[in-house]
Amino acid sequence: MTAPGTDMDVTRTISAIQEYWGFDELRPLQAEAIRAGVEQRDSLVVMPTGGGKSLCYQVPPVVADRTDVVVSPLISLMKDQVDGLRASGYPAAALNSAISNDEQRDVIRDLQSGDLRLLFVSPERLLMPGFLALVHKTNIRAFAIDEAHCISHWGHDFRPEYRRLRELKEIFDGISLHAFTATATPRVQRDIVEQLGLENPNVLVGGADRPNLTYRILPRVDVQGQTLEVVRRHAGEAVIVYCITRKETETLASVLGANGVRAAAYHAGMDAKKRRRTQEAFSIENLDVVVATVAFGMGIDRSNVRCVIHTGMPKSMEHYQQETGRAGRDGLPAECVLLYSAADVLRWQGLVQRNEVEDGDAAAAAAQLELLRHMQGLCSTLECRHRALSRYFGQPYEPESCGACDVCLDEVEPMPESTTVARKILSCVARLEQRFGVGQVVQVLRGADTDTVRKWGHEHVSTYGLLRELPEKTVTNLVYQLVDQNLLERPGGDRPILQLNEQSVEVLRGEREVRLVEPKVGAVRRSQAEVESMEGVDAGLFERLRELRRELARERGVPPYVIFDDRTLRDIARVRPTSPETMRSVRGVGEKKLVDPGPAFLDAVRAHCAEHDLATDVNVVARPAPVASGSRPRSNPARDEAMRLFAGGASLADVTAATGRTLRTVAGYLVDYVQAVRPEGVEEWVPEIEYDRVAKVAADLGTDRLKPLFRALDGEVSYETISVVLAHQATLAPDGEPSENLA
Ligand code: ADP
Ligand code: ZN
Repeated sequence: MTAPGTDMDVTRTISAIQEYWGFDELRPLQAEAIRAGVEQRDSLVVMPTGGGKSLCYQVPPVVADRTDVVVSPLISLMKDQVDGLRASGYPAAALNSAISNDEQRDVIRDLQSGDLRLLFVSPERLLMPGFLALVHKTNIRAFAIDEAHCISHWGHDFRPEYRRLRELKEIFDGISLHAFTATATPRVQRDIVEQLGLENPNVLVGGADRPNLTYRILPRVDVQGQTLEVVRRHAGEAVIVYCITRKETETLASVLGANGVRAAAYHAGMDAKKRRRTQEAFSIENLDVVVATVAFGMGIDRSNVRCVIHTGMPKSMEHYQQETGRAGRDGLPAECVLLYSAADVLRWQGLVQRNEVEDGDAAAAAAQLELLRHMQGLCSTLECRHRALSRYFGQPYEPESCGACDVCLDEVEPMPESTTVARKILSCVARLEQRFGVGQVVQVLRGADTDTVRKWGHEHVSTYGLLRELPEKTVTNLVYQLVDQNLLERPGGDRPILQLNEQSVEVLRGEREVRLVEPKVGAVRRSQAEVESMEGVDAGLFERLRELRRELARERGVPPYVIFDDRTLRDIARVRPTSPETMRSVRGVGEKKLVDPGPAFLDAVRAHCAEHDLATDVNVVARPAPVASGSRPRSNPARDEAMRLFAGGASLADVTAATGRTLRTVAGYLVDYVQAVRPEGVEEWVPEIEYDRVAKVAADLGTDRLKPLFRALDGEVSYETISVVLAHQATLAPDGEPSENLA
């Protein structure tokens, strides 16, 4: 892995992510993508949702000191993105049809003054003559294309207006294009490269796996009850429930509502105003659960969705990946539950076949059936879900067990006496002479007293009432499990009946074992990630901070995540900072947010910790203050004192004693000092042997990320020491211009 460009670029990158976002280090692929952006080499970046794509196009214009354009099809999200960036002090703006003329004039003025780093535009707007002239005049040289799969026919969301983006390379000489997408099979990747006319692009494909998601696929026996149970596990959290039909969304939303859940339905049949209101309520956290058809999601940027439920099987792995992708975008653990019945497969197959009859496109139908088969495979096999998904998207999955799916968490237990139960079902089909459908077979097995049962005299067959002890929906699901495993046939047609096949006969003869699964109610285990994400977090404080965030968001008219995301709130509830210095150590607190809204959160922490007698300023990991800015006056007596003492050659221990700060915080001050003063050496604080060791490993690994270095040094050198050495090394780097500066 290589970090962005020259040493100078590396330093600038690190201080940018510290300053604006409060992050410590880049993820591996981000470093490469940012480098491509800074050096203006065409690139295609495929990273799963939540992988951190935005940073890849936000950082380069800061490092290279230029203005870049981001092309995005989601006008509804642009405003939030821009608000989010501005809240971090990052100069960004958007131009699209939703913006007033006055605003537009302001944006253009900022653009011409060169103050903007990012300008978001819709693809239509980008190619208007007036805008092209503006691009020319302001010498914009790099374009990020978000949701780049939209350019491909083979993608799941083709948009004709994306096709014209290839004109960019024809109109402007020497510009670079940087394409981004979350899901693209190799074919779509090739298509993107070709369609955009990318030249010798750096193609960076990240793992498709989302380790923070826990997948569960349960037999569907009671949609409402099972959905309610899962939703209750996430009380007060954001949940999206996907249903196949509009009617189902409405029924389910009202059932949830009647059970005290803040839920609403959302589907394409509702009028636009109502849809917008629902989306808005969800975004500002006035609504916890949205029960939707797949129409919901594209315009949603709530990063703390903790659970996505599918009440039926989606028709492809691509759809499943995309819809579950909306969970846990903040990187915190989230759950994805699919309620499965093989009846869904039959339903989709029927639909595909009907379409084929209508439009006679046999190839399209075959392709859709193929997609269905893969999805069915995921649902009906007991293999690690993470592994199965990764494989489908063409990637190896290393871990033996993921620890975050129902299979690996050992929640799926075979039903006791599976084979006997299967034989009861199969012999009932035989007794009914293979002339009846699922409904009747289930009624007979359960010993129901219905008109149809009496009409055919089925109360006299020997299998009548054999599965009396099981609920009707469970028996139905078991029948479908047999269909799923090819142990029973259910040919299509108007009145699908159940028939036996060779395998059924083997089961009946006792020559074949069967494994059926039963949903275990309330049997979920917490994944490792879930346990860790709450470690040291004071839950009461977390809720209080959420409330504060909601208030501030309302006051300012922005979505709550623009203030801080959940991950940052949890970190605050873990560290419980009472001073700006410790607050700075929290991931997600950049320099701007330290000033605003930082103090409001510090107050809340102080108040809560005093009331509940909680220790404060714990679990702190020091992060040095960024070098770059200089724009914000920072008054911090302890830091000033530390600087003075360091200048006099005081040791870390002395300064720690003198300032009363933790060693980590003081080490952060030392990094500041080194960056500001650029001393010739740092041997007062770091023994030469240790210094050389760190410098060598950093050079060998070609990285300046703390964690990998810490590991490579076998944990024998402290984080503090490593960061001081790196800071000093950075001062030795030649002071060059950032590479490929624009002429
Ligand atoms: P994507 O656009 O790929 O779905 P985002 O850019 O929204 O992903 O990032 C997902 C989450 O990860 C966000 O909460 C973001 O703040 C966080 N994130 C991104 N990069 C980093 C990083 N280097 N360190 C810590 N958090 C990061
Ligand atoms: Zn697994």
